[in-house]
Amino acid sequence: MYVKSLLASARDIKIEQVEMPSDLAPEALRLRLATASICGTDMHYYRHFSNAGFTLDYPVTLGHEACAYVVNASGHEGFNVGDLVAINPVIPCGVCKKCSTGDINMCATKRFPGSATTKPHIDGFFREQFDFPARCCRKVSPDVSPDHLTFAEPLACAMHSVNRANVTIGQKVLVTGCGPMGLLATIAAVTKGAEVDVTDLKNEAISAAEQVGAKRGFQIGSATPPDNAYDVVIEASGSPYAYNQALAAVRKQGVIGVLSLIQPSDVPINLHLKALKEVTSVGSILFTHEFDDAVTLIENGTVNFEAITAARYPVSETGAACSFMADGHAVGKVLIKPD
Ligand SMILES: [Zn+2]
Ligand SMILES: [Zn+2]
Repeated sequence: MYVKSLLASARDIKIEQVEMPSDLAPEALRLRLATASICGTDMHYYRHFSNAGFTLDYPVTLGHEACAYVVNASGHEGFNVGDLVAINPVIPCGVCKKCSTGDINMCATKRFPGSATTKPHIDGFFREQFDFPARCCRKVSPDVSPDHLTFAEPLACAMHSVNRANVTIGQKVLVTGCGPMGLLATIAAVTKGAEVDVTDLKNEAISAAEQVGAKRGFQIGSATPPDNAYDVVIEASGSPYAYNQALAAVRKQGVIGVLSLIQPSDVPINLHLKALKEVTSVGSILFTHEFDDAVTLIENGTVNFEAITAARYPVSETGAACSFMADGHAVGKVLIKPD
């Protein structure tokens, strides 16, 4: 028997004791959770039972950020029982035009765990055991901390945004919003050799950004970043006000990378600045080759993930973990561990 959490309805997470099915699909590894982490997407489902206009058809286990130990390698070459693996949650079709060019994030029939966009839904990783395709798993050295390795997926998203915005060495970069994605974007831009400033409402979030390499922080309400000063602005807050801030702060012919999912709103966007300053704005969703880059960066051990970790909860307290995250006081990621 193992512990499994299930989002039954909005703000209602049930805990179950279940058995693993006796058979294992030929493409899958059987895995035991090492560490998972809560994403903003999970929070949308937790609050509303839907995200970005997609509503869940039935209860589902949330979670798409995790690493795990192999319990049954089922003959898959390169894997042995006990191996620690990073899990790329994107299951691409592997045969379409986008997949053939490596753009797995654009695959129209990709599958993704804990998401209403995949039908039928696939249960996510906030449970102690699960099966997942071996081709999505990457073996790492046992010396790597699972509490760091769970950052591979969100870090890959941040790195993809920074790559889409063409951040290069020596550039001045502003990251708007120091939630988990903004903190990871800070890490991604600092890794590229950029000088990074940040904004946030909370002082503690700015301090966390400084601990992972940000130079200066501007606390919204009491300080404003300079206008026309940044080669690249990465928008990571999800606020339309921050997008206007980005349009003001970016230099002429600079780039805005939109990493957040800004929800539809009535806030007017200052699009005249986009024209007058010839601003390029690039969206990003998920990642392509950056998953491997993120795992490699984590393996190097140079990133201070503890500075951006808010709390740890066992799977049996996934509900408490989500409600703690929903309160909005957490700085950094909330991790989920086996009981
Ligand atoms: Zn995520
Ligand atoms: Zn495809």
